[in-house]
Amino acid sequence: MTRHTGPADAPWIVFTEACIAREHPRTDAPVVRRLGSGDQVVGPCHVEHATDEEWILADIDGERAYVPRWNLHRIHPDNQVVGNLPYGHEIVDRWWGLPIEYEPDDLVVVPKEFCDSDPKEYRLRSRAIDALLDMLRAARAEGLDIRVGSAYRSGPYQVGLYTRAVDRDGPRQRYSAPPGHSEHQLGTCVDLLDSEEKFVLVDEFKNTPHSAWLEQHAARWGFRRSYYPENVAETGYISEPWHWRYHGRR
Ligand SMILES: [Zn+2]
Repeated sequence: MTRHTGPADAPWIVFTEACIAREHPRTDAPVVRRLGSGDQVVGPCHVEHATDEEWILADIDGERAYVPRWNLHRIHPDNQVVGNLPYGHEIVDRWWGLPIEYEPDDLVVVPKEFCDSDPKEYRLRSRAIDALLDMLRAARAEGLDIRVGSAYRSGPYQVGLYTRAVDRDGPRQRYSAPPGHSEHQLGTCVDLLDSEEKFVLVDEFKNTPHSAWLEQHAARWGFRRSYYPENVAETGYISEPWHWRYHGRR
C-alpha cells in the first residue's frame, strides 16, 4: 500500500461547529479567524513535533494561519461519485476521505450467528457480505469461530466516535479516524474477533489462531488486512490485526 495522493488545492472542510484558526500551531496561540461548520481551507498538513498535533497551514484572506486538523476532513476527488464507489478502488486513509454523507445503497445485515454478543446490527455491502460469509463458514469448517464486531459505520456516527476519542485522548490520538476517513464508511470492512471475545480490538488478537487463519487464507475471499506495523506511515493509523477490508475476489 502506498500513501494516496491528490490535488494540492483540495480543500479541508470544517465538520465541527466551531474551529479556531491561530497564528501558531498551539491551542493557546492568538486567534486569526473563527471558522464554522462547512468552511473550507487549503494548505499542507503540519505536524507539530512538541505535541504531535496536526495543523493545516492555510492562507486565510492573505493571513497565514494554522487550522486544527482534528476539526477538518478532506474528500478525494475520486470519491465524489453519484451512487456506490467501485469495490477495491476506494481511497480512504488519514489524509483522503469520503463525503461524510456517503452511504452505499446495497447494505445488508450480517446474520446474528456471525456476530459478537452485542445486540447491535452490523451491515455490509452485498458483495462484501457474500464473500465474508463464505470465508467465515470456511473457518468454522476448520473449527475456528470468527465473529464480526463492527462493520459499516456512517459518517455522522463516526463524527461522534472521533469527537469522543479526541476529547478523551487529545488531538494526537491515532486510533480513531476523522469522519469521512474511516474505511468502515465504505461498507466493505469488518473488525473481527474470537467468539469468546477475549481479544476485542487489541493487538494481542494477532496471536490467536483466528488471526493466523485470516492472515493465511483471507485473500482467497478478497479480504486484506489494512493496517500493519509496516504501513503506519502510509495509512496514518495504528496496526490493527482485527480490521479486514474486502477488495474483490480474485
Ligand atoms: Zn476497523
